[in-house]
Amino acid sequence: MTTSTHPGPVTAPAGVAAASATGLTKVYGAGETQVVALDQVSVDFRKGEFTAIMGPSGSGKSTLMHCMAGLDSVSGGSARIGDTELTTLKEKKLTQLRRDKIGFIFQAFNLLPTLNALENITLPLDIAGRKADQVWLDRVVETVGLSGRLKHRPSELSGGQQQRVAVARALASQPEIIFGDEPTGNLDSRSGAEVLGFLRNSVRELNQTVVIVTHDPVAASYADRVVFLADGRIVDDMAAPTAEKVLERMKGFDAKGRTS
Ligand code: ADP
Repeated sequence: MTTSTHPGPVTAPAGVAAASATGLTKVYGAGETQVVALDQVSVDFRKGEFTAIMGPSGSGKSTLMHCMAGLDSVSGGSARIGDTELTTLKEKKLTQLRRDKIGFIFQAFNLLPTLNALENITLPLDIAGRKADQVWLDRVVETVGLSGRLKHRPSELSGGQQQRVAVARALASQPEIIFGDEPTGNLDSRSGAEVLGFLRNSVRELNQTVVIVTHDPVAASYADRVVFLADGRIVDDMAAPTAEKVLERMKGFDAKGRTS
C-alpha cells in the first residue's frame, strides 16, 4: 500500500483484522457541554501490523483506544476484538476479554515494586490462573532483551528497561492485540527508541499486533502505518511512515486541530 490522503473508512481484507471499529461514535456530556469525541470512526487494525494513532490534542486518540480496548463505553457503532463485538458484552465478559485477548502498555510503567521483572511479566497470567507457555515466554524475554535481568526489581532497572518489562508483560499472554497509550512518553529518546524497536520486533518476529497512541513523529515512524485523527474523525492513513512525512502531515492541522 502506498501513502494516501483519502479520508473515511479504512478497511483490510476480510478476516485479518485483530480489532476493528465501524461507525464508532463517542459523545461525552449532554446539551451545551456535549463533546463528540469520536464521530463515526471506521478502522481496521490488521493482524501482524504495527499502527500508530496520531492527531492533535483533543482529536480523540485516547478515546478511540479506550473504546476499542473495552475500557470505555461507546455511544454508537461497533467495536470488535477479532470476531467479538465489545459494545454488547456484559462487564464480566468484557473483563475476561481484556484479560485474555488484550495487552496494555501505559505511559507510566505500572510495575509492582516488590516483584522482580519475571514476576511482573507473569503477574496477569498468575492472576488469571493461567500458566505461562514457557517457550513463548522465553522468546518474549529474548525479543525484548531482558535475559539476565529477570531477577531485578523495577527500582534496579532503568526507565527503558522497566518499560521493556511492561512490553513483555503485555506480550506474555499472546494477546490478540496490544494497545499502548504514549508508551514512550516517560522515556528519554534513546530508551524510547529501544522500546519502540522491541515493539517492532514483537510485530516482526512474534507476529503480534500493536497499536499505539503517540504525538511523536519519530515514535510513529517505527510503525507500519499511521492513522491520523482530527475532530474525532479519521482524516488520513499513511503507510510506511517516516518521521519527516509524519511531521509534514501534522503541520497540516491548524491550532484547533482541524485539517487544513
Ligand atoms: P486525545 O487523546 O487526542 O488528546 P481525547 O480522546 O482525550 O483526545 O479527547 C477527545 C475529546 O473528548 C476532547 O475534546 C476531550 O476534551 C473530550 N473528553 C475526553 N474524555 C472526556 C470525559 N471523560 N468527559 C468529557 N469530555 C471528555
